[in-house]
Amino acid sequence: MKDEQDLPPKMRTSGQKVPGKPLPRPQDPVEQEFWERCQDGHLYFQRCGNCGLFRHLPRYMCAKCGSPEYSWERSSGKGTLYSWTVTHQALHPAFAAEIPFVAAVVELEEGVRMATRLIDWNRENLALDLPVQVEFETVGDDFRLPVFRPRER
Ligand SMILES: [Zn+2]
Repeated sequence: MKDEQDLPPKMRTSGQKVPGKPLPRPQDPVEQEFWERCQDGHLYFQRCGNCGLFRHLPRYMCAKCGSPEYSWERSSGKGTLYSWTVTHQALHPAFAAEIPFVAAVVELEEGVRMATRLIDWNRENLALDLPVQVEFETVGDDFRLPVFRPRER
């Protein structure tokens, strides 16, 4: 095998710094508020002030009735596994140490679905409608990112 110093700098493994996980980059104030509310360790979703429908992703109008009125309601954080895939290839270097990991869609008790990651899973418990509970993973210096773990029924 070649000495590492014979390799071009990009191919040398020593001295390479693994970048941190990418953080959400909110595109507008209502999305910004969703992530800010996660920082206290609870999930909040918008609820229509007219028809009562919960919604996610954050947006300015209700998709059902068109009302611009809404409030932020604290979620139970409980839901079920709606869909998932076991990912064996890290498409970002920050995830290389965690493969295989589960990219999932969770359906919350409030009826909304969100894309997330499942933690503390094993192949035996992966199943549709697996009960899950939100937990917050610290990413970067102090950003709290919602992920989900299996829970008792
Ligand atoms: Zn509505």
